Amino acid sequence: MKLYNSLTRKVEEFVPNEEGKVGMYTCGPTVYHFAHIGNLRSYLMEDVLEKLLRFSGYDVKRVMNITDVGHLSSDADTGEDKMLKGAKRENKTVMEIAKFYTDAFFADCAKLNIKTPDVVEPATNCIDEFIHMIEVLLEKGYAYKAGENIYFDTSKLSNYFVFGDQNEEELMVGVRDDVSEDTNKRNKNDFVLWFTKSKFEDQALKWDSPWGVGYPGWHIECSCISMKHLGEYMDIHCGGVDNIFPHHTNEIAQSEAFTGHKWCNYWFHVHHLNDETGKMSKSKGEFLTVSLLEEKGYDPLAYRFFTLQSHYRKPLVFSYDALDQASATYKKLKNRVLALGEDGPVDEAAVKEWHDRFAEAVGNDVNTAMGLTLVYDVLKAELDGATKRAIIADYDSVLGLKLLEKTEDGDNAGIDPEFAAYIEEMIAKRAAAKKEKDFALADSIRAELLEKGVTLKDTREGTTYTLS
Ligand code: AMP
Ligand code: ZN
Repeated sequence: MKLYNSLTRKVEEFVPNEEGKVGMYTCGPTVYHFAHIGNLRSYLMEDVLEKLLRFSGYDVKRVMNITDVGHLSSDADTGEDKMLKGAKRENKTVMEIAKFYTDAFFADCAKLNIKTPDVVEPATNCIDEFIHMIEVLLEKGYAYKAGENIYFDTSKLSNYFVFGDQNEEELMVGVRDDVSEDTNKRNKNDFVLWFTKSKFEDQALKWDSPWGVGYPGWHIECSCISMKHLGEYMDIHCGGVDNIFPHHTNEIAQSEAFTGHKWCNYWFHVHHLNDETGKMSKSKGEFLTVSLLEEKGYDPLAYRFFTLQSHYRKPLVFSYDALDQASATYKKLKNRVLALGEDGPVDEAAVKEWHDRFAEAVGNDVNTAMGLTLVYDVLKAELDGATKRAIIADYDSVLGLKLLEKTEDGDNAGIDPEFAAYIEEMIAKRAAAKKEKDFALADSIRAELLEKGVTLKDTREGTTYTLS
């Protein structure tokens, strides 16, 4: 399997630390509000990656944190505390907010057929681990105390910017104009490991520590939670591109300072989903959630299909027109799959051959669009229905589109399965005729179907049809 690695900025052959096993970590949500469909694009692509690894035979252990404490709205340890802001907005306690939005997050994931990671750990569960790591960093001279807070000293590292050069402008992303620089810091990029001098007087969650009552900085949780469950060596770390700096840069700084060796080999970053006006936001414009899409009549899996059509390393623009198209294509595809006959023995050799084809094509840096194309190729192939079903079921363990599950309201849903199977057979015959350059036969098949009220349409993804 090949993966683009943000650390080396190259597509590389994936080689895990331990043969056959993958330790994978995903930065989880900050649970102060619903996730928007942009956040969920990241989780969807990470889900596909996990499923693809399993498809390729790896034994995967995936861990995710839940940020229920301390994540500040500016990524530079300044600005407002997002959790506190959510609690104030809804007149609830911080823990009530965390519980409510954690449940909401997993409910959205379930609708999008995103598997829950093997381990899900809220930051508030691991305060002892955070304190331990900070103590070690202090002992080793990588951290210092200033103004009652503990900071990580980035000047102690020979290469802090591991993801490449960060220019001044990039460093300013997320830093709000109205927040003054923290004068306790020795170096501009130093970050807080532990706050005891909170700028939030009403900070709800506080814990005892060797440095006084306080709470952790944001980045420490991912280092500690991943090491707690995956040990000191990890294979793949995931997140959205906005996490690269400062979050992942800081995670690496503190983890490698703590262990004294390289921590994680592959970094998988999903590019953003943007709306037509630019960056997606929870506060500006229409707040795009899975529930909103459902209210508007969309199947959440149509959104999953939409995201699978493009590559995770390209920004994707959301529009209702684009979703409408994806939705229609998804329904048609599903109807074609459902119309496949079930009779006949499964040709196991063919299933294996098509499995390997998918592993190779999609395994080339998670090429989900190729995965969809292969589904159409299977439909067009000269195989019997039962075998096609078996191959598509195998593919769907990665794509997660529930292609073989019946839905109530498909476009061609009312169609007699036998008639649908006949149409599929004719489409396959026509494709074979075209391949043999027997255009007269291909045209006669099209005409024969048209007489029966079936209009064929050739698209890039294969032939679809409408009924009149
Ligand atoms: P947060 O809850 O803000 O920590 O974000 C959760 C995840 O969503 C992180 O991995 C972010 O990198 C990712 N993310 C944030 N905005 C977007 C977006 N517009 N498109 C894709 N992923 C995003
Ligand atoms: Zn993280």
